[in-house]
Amino acid sequence: MAELTTDIQYIKGVGEARAKAMGKLEIHTLRDLISFFPRAYEDRTVIKPIAMLVPDETVCVEAMAGTEPRLSHIRKGLDLVKVKVVDEGGALELTFFNQSFVKDMLKPGVSYVFYGKVTGSPRRLEMLNPIFEKEKAHNVTGRIIPIYRLTSGLSQNIMANAVRQGLDACGDMMPDYLPPVVRENYKLAQARYAYENIHFPAHYEALEISRRRLIFEELFIISAAMGVLRKNRTVKIGRGLKPADIGEFYKLLPFKLTGAQARSIEQAIGDMLKNTPMNRLVQGDVGSGKTAVAAACCWYAWKSGCQSAFMAPTEILAEQHYRTLSQLLEPIGLHVGLLTGAMTAKQKKNVQSQIYTGEIDVVIGTHALLSEGVEFFDLALVITDEQHRFGVNQRSALTAKGDSPHVLVMSATPIPRTLALIIYGDLDVSVIDELPPGRQKVATYTANENLRQRTYNFMRKLVGEGRQVYVVCPMVEESVTADDDLKSAQAYAEKLKKEIFPDLKVALVHGRMKSKEKESVMATFSAGETDILVATTVIEVGVDVPNAALMVVENADRFGLSQLHQLRGRVGRGQHQSYCILFEGAGGEISIERLKIMCRTNDGFKISEEDLKLRGPGDFFGSRQHGLPEMHIANLAADMDVLTNAQAAALEVLKKDPDLKSPDNHLLKDRISALFELKANTLN
Ligand code: ADP
Ligand code: MG
Repeated sequence: MAELTTDIQYIKGVGEARAKAMGKLEIHTLRDLISFFPRAYEDRTVIKPIAMLVPDETVCVEAMAGTEPRLSHIRKGLDLVKVKVVDEGGALELTFFNQSFVKDMLKPGVSYVFYGKVTGSPRRLEMLNPIFEKEKAHNVTGRIIPIYRLTSGLSQNIMANAVRQGLDACGDMMPDYLPPVVRENYKLAQARYAYENIHFPAHYEALEISRRRLIFEELFIISAAMGVLRKNRTVKIGRGLKPADIGEFYKLLPFKLTGAQARSIEQAIGDMLKNTPMNRLVQGDVGSGKTAVAAACCWYAWKSGCQSAFMAPTEILAEQHYRTLSQLLEPIGLHVGLLTGAMTAKQKKNVQSQIYTGEIDVVIGTHALLSEGVEFFDLALVITDEQHRFGVNQRSALTAKGDSPHVLVMSATPIPRTLALIIYGDLDVSVIDELPPGRQKVATYTANENLRQRTYNFMRKLVGEGRQVYVVCPMVEESVTADDDLKSAQAYAEKLKKEIFPDLKVALVHGRMKSKEKESVMATFSAGETDILVATTVIEVGVDVPNAALMVVENADRFGLSQLHQLRGRVGRGQHQSYCILFEGAGGEISIERLKIMCRTNDGFKISEEDLKLRGPGDFFGSRQHGLPEMHIANLAADMDVLTNAQAAALEVLKKDPDLKSPDNHLLKDRISALFELKANTLN
């Protein structure tokens, strides 16, 4: 019996040359070979009587060769074999190009199954180059045939044969990574059955059963691995906070929390009551109300007499949070402080000493919080907003200022839930998948050049009503064309200023301006003194100008859908009906069809799922950023239900056997160690 690590060149019928070709498809070992799942299947199960055939369908017919095959040489390099085949109700003319050997293979009076595309007219049906075999052979007809991804030097036949040999080489010794109890509880097929039927399905039901089992296996192994990592982390001793009545905090809020907000808060509190530090991601679309969750956690820590630190990526955001939290919490005697790089040395010193003495209960700041002079009296909770903007190191630098404090990270980047569960598998995730009531939808349209003038008229109309407008031009960062893009944005801004709207106030902001300059343009726009703001890059996070009611995006096809969603989030923040117009460019990254998704939904999660389907998880985060093993079969966008089950199953297994010591879990343990290259001391 062959080991799964066997080099494929030693598999019967493969050999050195084909092994090399397969290497290009990342198939090196027997395991790779049997895990090289078909990309599609061809249904050759349908056998039809000739009388029922219609032109253009691709089917099997069971028929007898009615004549001696005739071979004719048309010209050099072109041979034809023609033969008439019959069944009880009809006749069919077969033609084979350049397959003269067929003449001797087909015997009059013998029945075969032919598979091919029907051509000709209903009165005179034909089939060109059908595949055939003797009736009841069931090798290439009458069944479901796998279709593999290929590369030069390989054919479907070669691949199918190699896989066949590979499966036979494994015999009955196919390792099953799923512990028997999991297979039973979740009614999953055995490994042997699944590998056989994913390649050579006996029927469609067998294929489905096998697919489900293999997707489950893939997601189960990842979930179990993440569970192991998590176990390692929570060995750290933190400090459980004292129970308090969160209802007291709810009474302070000027609004009623959404169900999703309340759920997130309760999950975070549940974590903070424990002796192991919280490590939770709160993920919610722009405007879903993450700040209230952060405030609730700060309040809770304060109830236990501890300090909290809340870090934001920009000064604008830090100041905004400071205003919100001090209005909310100062009236009940909580002391809120602000620390940013823009403050004078004296101001900073003052705040730092209040942090040190514990006079400040909640400090909000930028990365200025990380500086050496900042020492806490008793830091129990660290919150970072828009976490993707901080490096892991920056976050841990803040955490290090406390003694294993609870950690909450908040992100508006709507990572699809499936992907979040997987990459943040070693974090707990709360999702705010609900917006506060009464939010207006941003009416979204796609437009082409024919609508250019109408768009200008619409911009003028809105400005006439006192509103403001953003115009965004894409800028491909770090590309050779960046200079050209910038020039064209500058030229475009000039054109709007001089030709189209000479009577309006038009300004330009781009990423290469000095921060002072940028701030001043933004401040002017914020103050309502600019009518139209042309921006080259993504407008800063936290830019909140409720009076802006229209977002025009040029060459919208050059952005990803999630990015467009973030841009659109800059409008629709006030009481005014807001609009987003997406100009179709020359057809870049996303098609016009995809752009229309933006018109249909305002839901960032739906949009990012579409983005994920479109671009795949690798591209979604930049290549390989998430460090996950490649998925062979699971589709993160589509297999959500299976993922939920696989995670539950992994938790059950780890709960009973945290170190995977039981013989039932041995194979799983080895597989996890191999896949994640976990160090020996992680799993022992
Ligand atoms: P984000 O998730 O983008 O950080 P914020 O916390 O800034 O969202 O909230 C956006 C706005 O919605 C704020 O003005 C906030 O006061 C308001 N808000 C938050 N939660 C609710 C709610 N449950 N009902 C009504 N308004 C809310
Ligand atoms: Mg926010």
